[in-house]
Amino acid sequence: PYDGPSADELLEKRHRHLNPCMAYFYKNPLFLVDGKMQYLFDEKGRRYLDAFGGIATVSCGHCHPQVLDAIFNQAKRLQHTTALYLNRPSVDFAEALASKCPGDLNVVFFTNSGTEANELALMIARLYTGFHDIISLRNGYHGNAGATMTATGQRNYKYNVVQTGIHHALNPDPYRGIFGTNGPKYAKDVDEIITYGTCGRVAGFIAEAIQGVGGIYELAPGYLSAVYASVRKAGGLCIADEVQSGFARTGGHFWGFESQGVVPDIITMAKGIGNGLPLGAVVTTSEIAKVMTCHGYLNTFGGNPVSTAGGLAVLKVIENEKLQQNAFTVGMYLKNQLLALKEKHDIIGDVRGRGFLLGVELVTDRDLKNPATRETLHVMEEMKDMGVLVGKGGLHGNIFRISPPLCFTREDADFLVCTMDHIMSKM
Ligand code: PMP
Repeated sequence: PYDGPSADELLEKRHRHLNPCMAYFYKNPLFLVDGKMQYLFDEKGRRYLDAFGGIATVSCGHCHPQVLDAIFNQAKRLQHTTALYLNRPSVDFAEALASKCPGDLNVVFFTNSGTEANELALMIARLYTGFHDIISLRNGYHGNAGATMTATGQRNYKYNVVQTGIHHALNPDPYRGIFGTNGPKYAKDVDEIITYGTCGRVAGFIAEAIQGVGGIYELAPGYLSAVYASVRKAGGLCIADEVQSGFARTGGHFWGFESQGVVPDIITMAKGIGNGLPLGAVVTTSEIAKVMTCHGYLNTFGGNPVSTAGGLAVLKVIENEKLQQNAFTVGMYLKNQLLALKEKHDIIGDVRGRGFLLGVELVTDRDLKNPATRETLHVMEEMKDMGVLVGKGGLHGNIFRISPPLCFTREDADFLVCTMDHIMSKM
């Protein structure tokens, strides 16, 4: 049992000392003290089914025993050295990661977050090509430092960053986009940007296969292959931001970009690769990686033995427990249940995504597609009271984000859908 300070006491302290820009989900912020697989527990011991997984971060399950063992065992032996000495976990994990990447993507740079991974990837693309311009997508999210905040295509996450060399292309959004599900038509916008907005040569292109923070928008089919061809013709590198869509989450494939049939030049990852540990990575080819040898790239904690021992354990658990398969079958089942719910409730405008990266968009009118922001908050709050946690996102905060730990079961899916159904039926 928990016997520390109350939620009110902590909140009061938080107001005084923690950054003021953080908005919590829920009217009374949820105070979580324990986690076990797909469940979270508050200070009173109340259990919640976690269908958000700390923003698609918890892959194996909260406090998975094998991952914990790997972390503890390594921490007891050696917690930190520096990348200037050899350590075994970072080498073993790099080898294992490379084996999960297609083609000759087999050189790994470890970082501590998705932001760091994307910053490094963008810098590598600029160094390697000698060009500066980067194309990213409207509504994408790539991080909160200089280059990544610039690449992010949503006002909600931008401060007064100096935006140089970034062009935001039309989002190939099958739900609201002007070309519907026709990926190649949206891709023409990238051609136009290259032609009219740059010298005709670019450093690269970065996109998520399924936009997470933006509200689970899956890129229209055929989009990435057309864009990758244009970008490569203009001398640029193609970067796949797999921070949310990677690591088995989409079920059918290990990486999100695979559903578009492309192979990127650089893959960036974080969140799910550490199951909650601060861990990120950039994977690229040895030829591209070589550009980094012109100087020293130092990252004090990147590749530290504790995080990489944890990362290796995560990968083993995903394989041993067939979690990608589970994300595929249970994810499909859950999506079908949600699609059935859409038939019943007009407020559901769209159900989308793959595996355990699903979105449910609420609208006040199905034709006009006006965001039902207030109603989303209401449903989310009531679901929490009934013991189910879902995320929300999108520019207007009207899209449920369902990205549970990959051990989520059919029964969990049923419980989530029943809860949502019950609340919507009362509205
Ligand atoms: N890329 C994507 C697709 C993300 O969702 C996020 C985080 N929400 C990031 C990058 C940045 O990762 P981090 O918060 O670990 O810096």
